[in-house]
Amino acid sequence: MTDFDRQRERMVERQLRRRGIADERVLEAMAEVPRERFVDELYQRRAYADGALPIGDGQTISQPWVVAAICEGLGLSGDERVLEIGTGSGYSTAILARLAREVVSVERIEALAAAARRRLQELAADNVEVRVADGTLGASDQAPFDAIAVHATAPAPPRSLLEQLAIGGRMVIPLSERRADMLTVLTRTASAVDPETGAGFSSLRIAPCRFVPLLGEQGFESE
Ligand code: SAH
Repeated sequence: MTDFDRQRERMVERQLRRRGIADERVLEAMAEVPRERFVDELYQRRAYADGALPIGDGQTISQPWVVAAICEGLGLSGDERVLEIGTGSGYSTAILARLAREVVSVERIEALAAAARRRLQELAADNVEVRVADGTLGASDQAPFDAIAVHATAPAPPRSLLEQLAIGGRMVIPLSERRADMLTVLTRTASAVDPETGAGFSSLRIAPCRFVPLLGEQGFESE
């Protein structure tokens, strides 16, 4: 057992299980994926710290608990097709790849997508497609998705993402609220959806969290 393996075990126990993450499949995936491979060498020593870390281009790899909470919120059983927005380092993509049948992950920054693709290939995650695009528009050619994970804060649920979610499917997304970003689970309940009136989906708040902004046509405007 390497030092990283021991740190990973401790992370799962102290940061996840003790703080309420109960989905055994999520805990198992987080116990298996080597987080140290998704950060720069400079940060490897802190790979299992209880926080986010820089990954370049002003972006971050999310805190382990946040990745676990998003995955648990999706309630995956293994047979789903998942859309992920905000590939970043590819860490959360590697976790999702173990929890679902297929993952399409969208990142707007080319360099991050390229690095993530390389890491995922090294780990033989072959049920994953990483593409460069504005994720607020989803991936309409592959829709509908059984689940959607969004890793950046949106001003409101992007209409395209709601439309690309299968009926009964769940989307976990941080939404900007007055006091904080709120990690929220949206469940699509009908074929007609409207983010403005809240028609066609239900909403459950999980926890306040900090995320980078979701920039794009149906997100925040980029400067
Ligand atoms: N899940 C990542 C965390 C990434 S941080 C990980 O585990 O490392 C959020 C990411 O969302 C950033 O990489 C940012 O570039 C990306 N992002 C922001 N707006 C986006 C958009 N409209 N489409 C795709 N990616 C976006």
